[in-house]
Amino acid sequence: MLTTFLRDLATLAARALLRPQAAGGPLGSASRFEENHNLVTLALTGSGTGLWDRDVVTGEIHYSPAWKALLGYGPHELSTRIEDAYERVHPADLAHVQATMQAHFDNKTDSYAVEHRIRRKDGSYIWICSRGKVVSRDSEGRAQRMVGTSTDITALRETAESLQHTIDLITNLTNEVPGLVFQYRLGADGRGAFPYASDGIRDVYELTPADVMLSADAIEARIDPRDIAAYRRSLRDSAANLTPWHLEYRVNLPRQGTCWRQGDARPQRMPDGSTLWHGFISDATDRKRIEAELQELATIDHLTQLPNRRHFTFQSEAELTRLRNAETGIAAVLMLDLDHFKALNDRWGHALGDRALSHFAQLLRAEARIGDLVGRIGGEEFAVVLPHASTDEAIAFAQRVQRRIDEAPLVDGGLPIALTVSIGIDGMRSTDAGAYQALSRCDKALYVAKERGRNRIEIYEEQ
Ligand code: GH3
Ligand code: MG
Ligand code: MG
Repeated sequence: MLTTFLRDLATLAARALLRPQAAGGPLGSASRFEENHNLVTLALTGSGTGLWDRDVVTGEIHYSPAWKALLGYGPHELSTRIEDAYERVHPADLAHVQATMQAHFDNKTDSYAVEHRIRRKDGSYIWICSRGKVVSRDSEGRAQRMVGTSTDITALRETAESLQHTIDLITNLTNEVPGLVFQYRLGADGRGAFPYASDGIRDVYELTPADVMLSADAIEARIDPRDIAAYRRSLRDSAANLTPWHLEYRVNLPRQGTCWRQGDARPQRMPDGSTLWHGFISDATDRKRIEAELQELATIDHLTQLPNRRHFTFQSEAELTRLRNAETGIAAVLMLDLDHFKALNDRWGHALGDRALSHFAQLLRAEARIGDLVGRIGGEEFAVVLPHASTDEAIAFAQRVQRRIDEAPLVDGGLPIALTVSIGIDGMRSTDAGAYQALSRCDKALYVAKERGRNRIEIYEEQ
């Protein structure tokens, strides 16, 4: 390549040296040599594969052997007429080539540079990039001579085209993905931007890629205030440790309202100290709703809407832990069982039994204060934990429940459905191995209440 180029230069220089008279003009041979030397240097600056030298006045154009080789011609082939040169330019590119050339002749541009197709000897076309410059003008500024270089850029253009094709493919693919494919950059100065965001941003954030190209502020404004601190912290941590970013967070959107989003991305450190993530944000709203429903199904009793046995026990364990950690903490536990409930079912029907159960649950809930735990732990069995309450306070609570069910029974078809409840009470103890121990003591007290005639309140007594 270099050898070819040097040979080109040598040929051009030799011809320039042999041409001083032919070129004519007022310049002496010394300055003509200097001028030619400058031409060669100028051509070298362009450093293309082939060189050309055009006499604008006579319409002659000379090509270096390498230039001819570009088009598949031998060193002694090819006419030197500019008309023939233009004839080889692809018809679709000719007007553009001539206009660009004219603009330079007219001194409207500093130099001439154009990419166009040109026909080879075998009739095929290649893409070349031609650059040149008028190197002498007459006293009225008219172009007299111009030199330049031409480079075969066919392969380059093919690479660029296939690159563009790849980019188009990736863009089309990412735009079809339901979710946001993104590139997020966090500068060392703490400023964030999304250099790439797929079309999914219109659904995920109700924004456009252009909105976030230079600044991530528009996205941060959409993130729910409850989650913004966690959002920023998670990205900072991911950047600091270069660990994958994962976060579930809420966004508040003008059209969709509050929604859940899930983000996943991998960070990499850039030479300028910024961090660049490539990742994906998807809609987690439905999943979060289903999770919440499943959570409720797993923890809430459907008929009474009270915590079920499992969840009540879980909550009671937390209360026991609190009690163990407090120096002088107390808590009372009550176990409540409806009396002769089987008989009620038998007499009035199961559906009414159901209504009686939810009526009683409602009444218990109304009697409880914030922080009290109420649960349905079996068919017609309920339990209550009263944090900070003494046994006496638990008795008072139990009495209020009994009074309420007496005074405000379930009414069916105008008829009050009489219902009583037996209650066993004991305190939670910090020495208990688990919440079940207090419940089991209450159960024993409850058994005594049943034995002694029902509709009673009994305190657990050690045997
Ligand atoms: P005791 O005074 O000794 O507690 O008698 P009881 O009849 O209340 O006790 P038992 O354990 O013999 O019967 C409980 C009844 O509660 C039997 C069952 O059909 C009824 N039960 C349990 N769960 C439900 C429910 O979800 N809906 C209805 N309607 N009845 C239920
Ligand atoms: Mg029972
Ligand atoms: Mg019962």
